[in-house]
Amino acid sequence: MPLHSSPLATAPPVLAGRRPVGRRRLAGLAGLAMASLTLAACGGGGAGGGGGGGGEEAAAYPEDDITFVVPFSAGGPTDTVTRLVAEPMSKELGVPVVVQNVEGAGGTIAAGQVANAESDGYTVLMHHIGMSTAPSLYPDLAFDPLEDFKTVGLVTEVPMTIVARKDLEPDTLEELVTYLEENGEEVTLANAGVGAASQLCGLLLQDALDVKLTEVPYDGTGPALTDLVGGQVDVMCDQTTNTTGQIGSGKVKAYAVTTPERVESLPDLPTTEEAGLAELQVGVWHGLYVPAETPDAVVEKLTDALKVALADQNVVDQLADLGAAPSSAEDATPEAHTEQLSSQIDLWQPIIEEAGVSGS
Ligand code: ASP
Repeated sequence: MPLHSSPLATAPPVLAGRRPVGRRRLAGLAGLAMASLTLAACGGGGAGGGGGGGGEEAAAYPEDDITFVVPFSAGGPTDTVTRLVAEPMSKELGVPVVVQNVEGAGGTIAAGQVANAESDGYTVLMHHIGMSTAPSLYPDLAFDPLEDFKTVGLVTEVPMTIVARKDLEPDTLEELVTYLEENGEEVTLANAGVGAASQLCGLLLQDALDVKLTEVPYDGTGPALTDLVGGQVDVMCDQTTNTTGQIGSGKVKAYAVTTPERVESLPDLPTTEEAGLAELQVGVWHGLYVPAETPDAVVEKLTDALKVALADQNVVDQLADLGAAPSSAEDATPEAHTEQLSSQIDLWQPIIEEAGVSGS
């Protein structure tokens, strides 16, 4: 087992001391099922459609419902974060916000859909770290994250946890590592498809141990966690926003959190570094996007509403309960978000190329 101590801040993963991994293709993309769910929103919504342009329409924005597109299943971590901020943003903007889950291909179906939506501020994408890995994972990606969107601002960064069905033999991360090395492809690893944070974290885990597990893709880690609780799959790497409750109630076994520091809401859970797997560190940053031609005045209104939402005490408290924190006001800006996106695209490209993973 390679045990390196590689310090790391927040989002970037550490792969120091990685052993080369054979080329492999992860097949089995999630289906394209779409589920639409409506979030209760405050009143104040006006009549009239969005319209596409600048000037007057931007000044009047918003006059109608805004749709927040979530690229994974309802009930999962991305959905949870979206619904948390959508409510105060809805209040601030004075119109209802509808949350729509557009699943498939590790989040790339939803992103492609929003890239081609009207640039009127009425279709907004919530996406995470997957926005920066998609260009490397999908050679034929239907959109360019930097060219086809405007960034609204960063939302939050969420730690990941390594969890397993509760009756899996190993009790510690060290034991789990040995178990995975001994059982390899006999072990099933759930994720939300190529491009999902869970898939990325699972990739880093396999890479660190130089093992190949059997990946089981879902439309989101909401349903994947349900199967983990039910014992249908063995192991998963997923965000605290999804796993905290099930860890707390003992319905899954937890081994470590993938951040440099322990998470307050899970104080007994060691970090990967403490547990001897320092090279597996990753945080899942999230941001809001609109289509590229969206007027700046509209983006500004969304950014302002995002900042209000992130300062909302209920959002702060609920995120804290789930092991996360809102992005700072400086990070909840298009500038900081674009910088993060761009640097993360550069960070992940060589790592994914070396791992030889592809979603298409
Ligand atoms: N965001 C999760 C992931 O990337 C999936 C989900 O939200 O359901 O694995």
